Amino acid sequence: MMNAEQYEESLRKLKLDVHMFGERVKNVVDHPIIRPSMKAVAKTYEMAEKEEYQEIMTARSHLTGKSVNRFTHVHQNIDDLVKKSKMGRLLGRETGCCFQRCVGMDALNAVSIVSHNVDAKWGTEYNKRFLKYLAYVQEHDLTVDGAMTDTKGDRSLPPHKQPDPDAFLHVVERRKDGIVVRGAKAHQTGAVNSHEILVMPTLSMREDDREYAVSFALPSDAEGILYIIGRQSCDTRKSEEGALDQGNLLFGGHEALVVFEDVFVPWERVFMCGEFEFTGELVEKFAAYHRQSYACKVGVGDVLIGAAQVAAEYNGVDKASHVKDKIIEMNHLNETLYCGCVACASEGHREQSGTYCVDILLSNVHKQNVTRFPYEIARLAQDIAGGLMVTMPSEKDLRSPETGRLVEKYLGAKSNVPTEHRLRILRLIENLTLGSAAVGYLTESMHGAGSPQAQRIMISRTVDMREKQRAAKRLCGIE
Ligand code: SF4
Ligand code: FE
Repeated sequence: MMNAEQYEESLRKLKLDVHMFGERVKNVVDHPIIRPSMKAVAKTYEMAEKEEYQEIMTARSHLTGKSVNRFTHVHQNIDDLVKKSKMGRLLGRETGCCFQRCVGMDALNAVSIVSHNVDAKWGTEYNKRFLKYLAYVQEHDLTVDGAMTDTKGDRSLPPHKQPDPDAFLHVVERRKDGIVVRGAKAHQTGAVNSHEILVMPTLSMREDDREYAVSFALPSDAEGILYIIGRQSCDTRKSEEGALDQGNLLFGGHEALVVFEDVFVPWERVFMCGEFEFTGELVEKFAAYHRQSYACKVGVGDVLIGAAQVAAEYNGVDKASHVKDKIIEMNHLNETLYCGCVACASEGHREQSGTYCVDILLSNVHKQNVTRFPYEIARLAQDIAGGLMVTMPSEKDLRSPETGRLVEKYLGAKSNVPTEHRLRILRLIENLTLGSAAVGYLTESMHGAGSPQAQRIMISRTVDMREKQRAAKRLCGIE
């Protein structure tokens, strides 16, 4: 396995075509806006090295029997699934942001199941190729960007009817040695911190969309792949002098639009090509795993609840009964989220391929809760923090010889708490609920791994209504 330094060095070797603010980024790893997101992924390497976290952060590869980072592991039992949820919470708490590496893990697991099922039906050899690829990822401890979401164009039209045929990523040429693909994947979490990109179709497709039913993996710096980094609220604070105004001084996340301009993929890296009838299953499996992965928000919730308690103490209101009750409510909501991600893992099952998958209904219920509870937790944190969180002067004013003494004097609260500490904790709450980390804690909770309606559809499809009706009728004597 790699350690954090080796991971950082490995990224320096990539020749990524990254763009931001209308310019090409020459040094991706050291760019002040990208670097905090790289540090968050590096944490997944650092924690795997620590003795006390080995159980959670590492697993035994079913291919080689060697110890691997859990982010490269294909789940072999229920215990693996439960540990995955625990790992998500742990890293969310350590970084206070999106640490990005789960998407690739979820993609590896979903493709391990579906490539096997395609082979069973058609006698293809996708699973053999995939397992070879998986062994390579495990051996080199790579970070994989799992890329599902297409840009989708006109939402009322299927892929093959789009006025722009590239609205969904598709095969434009089949060659003897491989395929050529064109299109884009949007909202790609951690894309430029990844060594590999594993592409999957974005929705369930019909026969006419055959050329869009494609799954493959490429090195992230393969020729023809281009990245455009997405803006985040308050992102340029990361490139300012001083760090207090960033709130989270250590970590962040990023998303990018990833464009494939006629990119060649050799056959040994292709895991689905034309088997449209399996696209629905691939989407469903990936979504179920990734909805479980929103265990991360429980960890970020831990940070926000901790910050709210600290802010209350600094302000001298922590003994007020309504403040205590708000903290209880935040914990209640956060631990309810934890119940969901552990439950869908505990109720997991074995697939034909041998991979263990979470309970689909419960993982969708969990993610549906995630689209709501973090917003309420954030509302309560803002309530406790007070308005100063968004009206306080900048760090520069705190350091200025002219105004610093005034900021110190008038923005202090409890006499034994340095004013600067109060400002720091409020900036962290701002970062988590309004700033760049709110992308991860709030909007990503809403739309990541599928928007709320996607989970409601899955809940209606997987819940056993007949059994509920039967139970009711039996008790009141209806035949
Ligand atoms: Fe992982 Fe959570 Fe980020 Fe998704 S939002 S990549 S689950 S940390
Ligand atoms: Fe996500």
